Amino acid sequence: MNIIYILSYERSGSTLFHNVLGQIEGFFSVGELRYFADRFHDTRPCGCGDKVTDCHFWRKVIAKFPNINMQTSKIPRYIKGQYLPIIFLPFSKILIRLIFSRHLTYINQLYKAIEGESRSLVIIDSSKSPIYCYLLSLIPEINLKIIHLIRSVYGVEYSLYKRKQTGHPKYQKHNPLYGSVRWVLSNIVSTKLVKKIGVPYKQIKYEQFILNPEKTVKLILDWLHMRDLNIDFIYKRGVTLYPTHSVGGSPSRHITGEVPLKLDIDWKKNLPQLYKTIISIIARPLLIKYGYY
Ligand SMILES: [Zn+2]
Repeated sequence: MNIIYILSYERSGSTLFHNVLGQIEGFFSVGELRYFADRFHDTRPCGCGDKVTDCHFWRKVIAKFPNINMQTSKIPRYIKGQYLPIIFLPFSKILIRLIFSRHLTYINQLYKAIEGESRSLVIIDSSKSPIYCYLLSLIPEINLKIIHLIRSVYGVEYSLYKRKQTGHPKYQKHNPLYGSVRWVLSNIVSTKLVKKIGVPYKQIKYEQFILNPEKTVKLILDWLHMRDLNIDFIYKRGVTLYPTHSVGGSPSRHITGEVPLKLDIDWKKNLPQLYKTIISIIARPLLIKYGYY
């Protein structure tokens, strides 16, 4: 099974990026698949608009493993947090296999069913989480490749700032110090993780993708040795999107049709100066390393 995993920080454009890759012939977008079991208990729809349990694609997938218990197979939310340091211990593979043996079996079965039903060359998973990425790397049947999608912390923080300003309950306590530290740690952990896993890896900047989607997608196809695939859905500074069957991600996964791609640089005038100063102090070395200065 060929899987491209998008490793990324929140508000970094991974949903749009993943949707675009999913338009390539033979590529199949599943979105943030680590939330698949959650879709049996909430009302968030599939990328196609149907309830996941009513979607014609997922119904066929689920029918392939009727004995799986969605509740007990659910990937715990804590998977993104406290188990992370274990990844970097010398005996991490053994430990993670012991702790998550049931989940590894479930994930493997799920991907096999997806591959069988979609008949795709490549499955795109935008789950973003480092530890979930590590779980995938422990499944021998999976041929894993990782794209680390990076967005400048200024753009990320501006996106979070706008959410806070509009009263989004999750972000009311958000502040730029906390946000910048998390952005730095997330990217450092992601880089260390891909080194440890040792699978093919590509770093893509969100801004580079938005400014030149055709060049970026061609770069990725070259990397995958699939440069002959048709990418006519990309036009100058925009893309034509068709519905996917992604089960998780931002609401933008439901956007279809001709979608112009435009870089949001409003943070330059609208992000408070205090935010900019704090971000610069905390994140400048990594921003320089990524070529943002
Ligand atoms: Zn669907």
